[in-house]
Amino acid sequence: MRSPEGTTPMDINEIENCASCGKPVTSNLTFYEVEIRQCVVDAQNIGTMRSMAGLVGSTAIGLALSPTTTIAHRVGAKTRRLLCQDCGAGVERPLPVAVLLEGGDA
Ligand SMILES: [Zn+2]
Repeated sequence: MRSPEGTTPMDINEIENCASCGKPVTSNLTFYEVEIRQCVVDAQNIGTMRSMAGLVGSTAIGLALSPTTTIAHRVGAKTRRLLCQDCGAGVERPLPVAVLLEGGDA
């Protein structure tokens, strides 16, 4: 069966229970697939970009002249989680992203 336009198929082998409440994600019509990765700010590069912007008096020109535009670094691989409709929408409680990254219960 072809996937509806604008969608990509998800195999039954890719299904997991909700990473937050543990219920089957297919108990509602929709659910969420999220990919998470932690990032670390590069304070030294930000300082360099700010200095250049201050030197020339323009953020846009300062960035164009800066030796770097790297503002942060991605750490490790993405973590994939599935969330049921209610948890993904935060119906019961807000869900901290960092909890999903660690894989523990919120
Ligand atoms: Zn849930």
